[in-house]
Formats: sequence, structure tokens, C-alpha cells
Amino acid sequence: MKNPIRIGIIGGGQLGKMIAQEAKRMSFEIIILDPSEDCPASSLSDELILADFKNELAIKKLAKKSDIITYEIELANSKALKSLESQRYPVYPSPETLRIIQNKFRQKSFLMHNHIIVPKFDLVRSEECLRNLCTEYGLPAMLKACEDSYDGRGNFLISSKNKIYQALEFFHGRQCMLEKFIPFIKEISIMVARNSHGQIVSFPVSENIHKNNVLDMTIVPARISKKVGLKAKKMAEKTIGALKGAGIFGIEMFVTNDEDVILNEVAPRPHNSGHYSIEACSISQFEHHIRAILDLPLSKPRLLTPAVMVNILGSEGHIGPYKIKGIRQLLAIPGVKLHIYGKKISKPRRKLGHITVTAKNLLEAMSTAERAKRTIRVVVE
Ligand code: ATP
Ligand code: MG
Repeated sequence: MKNPIRIGIIGGGQLGKMIAQEAKRMSFEIIILDPSEDCPASSLSDELILADFKNELAIKKLAKKSDIITYEIELANSKALKSLESQRYPVYPSPETLRIIQNKFRQKSFLMHNHIIVPKFDLVRSEECLRNLCTEYGLPAMLKACEDSYDGRGNFLISSKNKIYQALEFFHGRQCMLEKFIPFIKEISIMVARNSHGQIVSFPVSENIHKNNVLDMTIVPARISKKVGLKAKKMAEKTIGALKGAGIFGIEMFVTNDEDVILNEVAPRPHNSGHYSIEACSISQFEHHIRAILDLPLSKPRLLTPAVMVNILGSEGHIGPYKIKGIRQLLAIPGVKLHIYGKKISKPRRKLGHITVTAKNLLEAMSTAERAKRTIRVVVE
């Protein structure tokens, strides 16, 4: 293996930063492409190319300077990456996988054709079409913008027929699909890594609690039956088997009252619900992403301790500089690890950092996590 390996990453957010942290431990070089000079990963990168994620010239420059390209955001330019790949340049996960995942309708169609259970869905072609779909699926139903949505910002819950017009207005003109509402009892996810040799390993199942559409807390191990755990693992590995390319993938799923497991969506990158693996597993999702894209051996991640992760989010009603208060008190709590991403500006519900709590049992980890959450505050400067 060439040393040092130069890894080019499109996107310099917290995921890029945490990939870089693991890469640096092994002395790999990191080159980041991001439009912001002070993006979270900038402090750990050997070089920063300042450009939009979709800028073809900048992507070519990144390729020239790196041995391999990966991405930490779905906004990357799948067309430009495909053109690199056609010149035998290594891009992982495959740009075709990115293209499929970038559009929620394309993604769900792909999953359905590969016999993976997803909620009923269809493209909304007109207001009349939406009205008919609402009648067919029943209400509530979830209207989703097909592209460029994250943290639930591309979702609108249609609770009654008189909300249909408002829902369409909300996305004015963007391509949308309607999804049948799943009255889930739990949301879970699994991180799965695959290298180019086809070796596949999965992480333990995480249980995810969302607040206002954003992930608030991840609990590991998930409080589910063995049967649901096995179903979820099988579904996650089948999904990765159907998608091309190496890397780590986050598979989000719903669990119903009847113990059915339904796939919600796939992320072709490290995932917020896998952050716990840094402290709680024998290997983290970030190291496995690096190993997977470099076609290195993937060891089976073992859960070393129960863990709870809570996100630190920007406060409502404030855009601008901020301070995180309570760090001294937080760090006095045993079992707490603090991650601050270093974003310069806070926005409502923006992910600014996270806390992982490990403890000898889940109950203790959960009560410590609640205490940790109360201790830390994001305040306006
Ligand atoms: P993220 O970036 O947080 O993964 P996203 O913007 O890509 O989210 P989704 O994962 O599709 O959006 O949806 C966000 C949340 O909305 C889900 O985690 C779930 O709580 C809820 N949700 C989405 N689809 C459905 C559905 N069909 N039925 C019930 N709830 C849903
Ligand atoms: Mg999601």
C-alpha cells in the first residue's frame, strides 16, 4: 500500500472531520473540497479546495491531488464523479449509488425493485394526483421533496385533506412524492460497511429518537426483540448487496407494532446515528469507511459498552455566532465524551456537536445522557 494515501473528501462538515480524525491516526493525508474556509474538517485537512460541492473543475483538481475520492454529503456531483470513474479513477461509494440515493423517488423505486420493503409511495404529478394518492393511502401521509432534503426539512405531514394545497405550496415546484404514513413504534438504523472485495460487516442496531424531525438521541443496543434485530440486519445487508460500491452506509428503518421492519432511507456515508461507535465499538463507523474505500480488511464491530448519543443543536430563533456553555460541568460527569464540530454560525436545529455517554448498563447511560443534555447550552454571543 502506498504511504501516505491521500484521501479526497467532498464536504468538510462534521462527518468529513470525523473521517479525517481517524485518517490522521493512520497518517493518511486529507484533502477537503468545501465552499467554506472554516468548515469543521478544515482544521484537520492537509489541503482545502474552496469551491461548491458540484463544481466540476474543483472536483477534477481534488482528483489530481488525491489517490481516491469519497464524499460525506449527498449533494456531491454524481455526474462529474461518474466521469472520473469512467477514467478508472477510484470514487467510493460508486457515483451510480450516489445518483440513486440523491433522489428519494429513484431510491425508493430501486429498493422496491430489489424486493426491499418500503412504505407505499408514488410521484406527485399534479394537485389532482396528490388528492387521489391521499385517498388511496389514507391520512396522515408524508409528502417528501425528492431532492436536497435533510433533517426532515423536505417533509410535510399531510394530516387532513385541507392541508393538501398548503403542502404543495410548501415545496412550490419541487419534485415531490407521497409516502404512506407508517405508525412506527420505533425508528432504528444500522451502519453497514462493504469493501471492494465484497466483504460486508454490520454494526449493532441503534434506536433513534427524533424531535422536530431531527435526530435527538441514539440508544445502543436498540431495545428491540431478537427477531426484529435479525430482520433489520438481514434487510440492511440485502440493501447494501443491491447497491454498488464500497464504503459505509447508514440504513434507517421503521419497526411496527407487528414487529415488521420497513426501510425508510439509505445514506451512502457515515451517519449521525453511528457516532456512538467512536466510543462504544471496537472500531468506529469512520475507520470502517476508510478501510472500506481503501479495500482494507473489515473487522466485525463489537459493542464494548451500552451507549447513548445526544445531539447538540442550534437554538430556535437564532442565526449567528454562538457559545457552548456548561462544558466544565459536563466534563465532570463520568462516562461523557464531548464532540464540538467547530461550526462558526449557529442556525435553528443545526448540528453543532454531540455527546456520547457510555455506562455499564443502558439505564445508567440514559439517565446520564439526560443529565448531560440539561448541563450543556447553546447561547447567543
Ligand atoms: P434525515 O436527514 O434526518 O435522515 P430526511 O430529511 O432525509 O431525514 P426522512 O428520513 O425521510 O427525511 O424523514 C425524517 C423523519 O420523518 C423520519 O426519521 C421519521 O421520523 C419521519 N418519517 C419519514 N417518513 C415517514 C413515513 N413514511 N411514515 C412515518 N414517519 C415518517
Ligand atoms: Mg432520514
